[in-house]
Amino acid sequence: MADLLSPLGYESTTQPEGADIVILNTCHIRERAEEKVFSDLGRIRPLKEEKRSQGQDMIVGVSGCSAQALGDEILKQAPYVDMIFGPQTYHMLPEMIAKLERSRASNPKATILNVDFPEEIKFDHLPAPTSTNEAGLSAFVSIQEGCDKFCTFCVVPYTRGAEYSRPVEKITNEVKALVDLGTKEITLLGQNVNAFHGLDSSSKEWNLGKLLMRLADLEGLERIRYTTSHPNDMHADLYEAHRVVEKLMPHLHLPVQVGSDSILKAMNRKHTCDDYLRIIDKMRDLRPEIAFTSDFIIGFPGETDKDFEDTLKLIERVKYAQAYSFKYSIRPGTPAGAMENQVPEDIKNERLYRLQDLLNAQQLSFNQSFIGKTLNVLFERDGKHEGQLIGKTPYLQSIYVKANQRLKGQILETKITQAKQNGLAGDLILVQDEKVF
Ligand code: SAH
Ligand code: SF4
Repeated sequence: MADLLSPLGYESTTQPEGADIVILNTCHIRERAEEKVFSDLGRIRPLKEEKRSQGQDMIVGVSGCSAQALGDEILKQAPYVDMIFGPQTYHMLPEMIAKLERSRASNPKATILNVDFPEEIKFDHLPAPTSTNEAGLSAFVSIQEGCDKFCTFCVVPYTRGAEYSRPVEKITNEVKALVDLGTKEITLLGQNVNAFHGLDSSSKEWNLGKLLMRLADLEGLERIRYTTSHPNDMHADLYEAHRVVEKLMPHLHLPVQVGSDSILKAMNRKHTCDDYLRIIDKMRDLRPEIAFTSDFIIGFPGETDKDFEDTLKLIERVKYAQAYSFKYSIRPGTPAGAMENQVPEDIKNERLYRLQDLLNAQQLSFNQSFIGKTLNVLFERDGKHEGQLIGKTPYLQSIYVKANQRLKGQILETKITQAKQNGLAGDLILVQDEKVF
């Protein structure tokens, strides 16, 4: 959005005070995210009023999935909002601002509500990065969007719409452009990234595994990642990519949600725990050093103590490097939201506490397993203290070393000296003629 607005003369700021336009880009995945929209709007309101009192305007926009799902409900609760637009229409931002300004000439109360799913393809309208700064050392590239799976707890198929894959050439051109600007690591993004089935220039369908192999040939690109994958979309080429593509980082984020077959069924996940464990075992056979991360939902309707214990057992079996865990949150309009056997909040709290205890212990022991070993680290930014650099290991662990800024942007061998749950510390292993400072 910042890239779309910069040709109109807008510049990014970290302070909403005094801004000409403030856009809240929102999430709708859990209720907490939705509540945040309204509390954030409450903080923006006095800033807009203050600007008004000085005879100036502040355009307030709400975008993203809560905008898509709540639509004019936001206008009702927060009538000072000027623009509401969903994840499929944000490329029209410059036109929407122009339209708002035009309409305001005749009607000072005019607002914009744009929650369509237009036929035109958003990605074709988004500007490509033009500077090293915009591209960054590590960049995200959307290759797939939307979801057709309809898990019973989830709003994504409703807010993001049907599954769509970008054409292969568009993706490879974008990655090439990023690499030319200095990007070393890319993360391919999609709500179901391994369901990718983009077309090439001769209308042949490519899967994610094939795309990864093609991208790995790009000189200058050092690291490739992708997220988020679904267990039902694992395919032979993807396993093969993990086996042969060295640039593909040895990490797979593969959410399982729970370790109980009956809850998986009620969630409409369409796979069993055994199916999931088979994927893990197969990947470990192909690439023994691979690490797994997952998402978990605790307290899905009907979850019994036994179901929950089975989730803990699955976690013990897989041994995760890291995981996100959430209490089940009722989403209006989803099938699970209407189920009657909702789990009481205190049980959810207790289960979440136990689950996170186990996951945190696994994360700590994963990190500790690297003490004394060497990892390649992409150094991305300065640390909190003078003379520190922060980077990322192949496993996405954050790590700091003592080193000069000059080494930023490089991938360097680092010996791990300390490990905490949330990150590592290490010493650079220097090759001849290199100096830490
Ligand atoms: N497509 C991915 C996940 C996308 S949503 C997949 O299927 O794995 C990201 C995560 O949000 C999910 O993995 C799930 O753990 C969490 N989530 C989604 N809806 C939720 C809800 N209603 N309550 C709690 N967590 C939810
Ligand atoms: Fe949501 Fe993922 Fe299920 Fe799609 S597959 S409905 S995004 S949880």
